[in-house]
Amino acid sequence: MTSVAVVGTGAVGSMALWRLAARGIPATGFDTYAPGHDRGASGGETRIFRTAYKEGPQYVPLLHEARALWTELEQAAGTRLLTPVGGVTVGPRDHPAVDAVLAAARAHDLPVEVLTGKDAAERVPEHPLRDGEVMVADRDAGYLRPEPAVVAAAATAERAGATIRRYTPVEQVREDATGVTVVTGDGEQRFTHAVIAPGPWAAHLLPGLPITVKAITSTWFPRRDETLFAPGRCPIAIRVGEPAYSCFPSVDGAGVKVNLHVPWREIGSPADLARSVPAEYVRQVAEAVTATLPGLRPDPVRVATYADAFTPDGHGLLGGQGRVVVAAAFSGHGFKLAPVFGDIVADLVETGTTGRAIAHLAPNRPLRRSP
Ligand SMILES: Cc1cc2nc3c(=O)[nH]c(=O)nc-3n(C[C@H](O)[C@H](O)[C@H](O)COP(=O)(O)OP(=O)(O)OC[C@H]3O[C@@H](n4cnc5c(N)ncnc54)[C@H](O)[C@@H]3O)c2cc1C
Repeated sequence: MTSVAVVGTGAVGSMALWRLAARGIPATGFDTYAPGHDRGASGGETRIFRTAYKEGPQYVPLLHEARALWTELEQAAGTRLLTPVGGVTVGPRDHPAVDAVLAAARAHDLPVEVLTGKDAAERVPEHPLRDGEVMVADRDAGYLRPEPAVVAAAATAERAGATIRRYTPVEQVREDATGVTVVTGDGEQRFTHAVIAPGPWAAHLLPGLPITVKAITSTWFPRRDETLFAPGRCPIAIRVGEPAYSCFPSVDGAGVKVNLHVPWREIGSPADLARSVPAEYVRQVAEAVTATLPGLRPDPVRVATYADAFTPDGHGLLGGQGRVVVAAAFSGHGFKLAPVFGDIVADLVETGTTGRAIAHLAPNRPLRRSP
């Protein structure tokens, strides 16, 4: 009988546990910490969901499925996880990222609108346009609550029969002809399959794959005008060009989160994340706020850094080889897709294959370490 070990119960692992349990497949999750913690890739209050995907039109069918699964999880857990406030991409009309958003929308007939001038200023006063800029509005976008979402997926999985071994780091996963052995400080446990979903700790459990770990810093700014950035109305925004960042509504009323898009710092492991952030970085993000977000005061009231695992081409690793399924390195954009990735993991365990188009995520595709 099939039995699955899921190593890592962060975003992807907890969703995999939920989807495995929903199919009646016995599954045990292992985590160094516990679902919903903020030391990996899934902390920091909010994550963007969007469908007009500049990372490639091949994601759009997966995003549609992810959206339906977010709704299913909300219903199962009885809690709001995705707030569908819409989203905008803001930047120069001829910027490649603006073209990529429009190309994904065209390829899949998505309901996006290009706004300029008075229309943009009235609809989204939080993000004034500068000369030559446009705003592409994606109605099927919004923000997710990452910590509650991971807790909800794990709790729903447990209610459906999954087991979670909290505070139990996995030291090794060994595969042989009849199954896999999971080694922890408590001893060894046998399963027929293993799913490796260790987030930014991937380089440790998946040596040999070209995975790098990067630190991404979030900053929260107070509002000048309390009517702006309202959590039930203000869309999420991605600004491209110079400066580039993502920006969220004021979810808890205390601050508006801005993630500056600069080349993210490589670190050895999430254990190397520093609580302090260079003053130079804070100055850079304060300048970006001053230049483009007049509704905010430019000095942050909160700064926090998180880690994620990246591949050289920016697409994650999702696929099975033998009895081991790899689900890792989602390269800074995996949260929104976590429910469908979890369901694909369940396909791969159950049948060895999946009907979903995931060739761009194949762990054995040609991947070279970045120079
Ligand atoms: C600051 C930031 C902003 C982001 N913004 C967005 C966004 O707006 N939209 C979006 O879609 N994506 C976004 N991403 C990316 C997204 O959050 C990640 O891709 C996603 O959270 C990855 O989930 P994961 O399950 O791979 O990792 P995690 O959620 O970190 O889970 C990995 C888990 O594995 C456990 N683990 C590791 N090693 C072991 C071991 N040996 N034994 C047992 N347990 C182990 C860890 O404790 C952890 O719980 C962002 C990422 C960051 C860091």
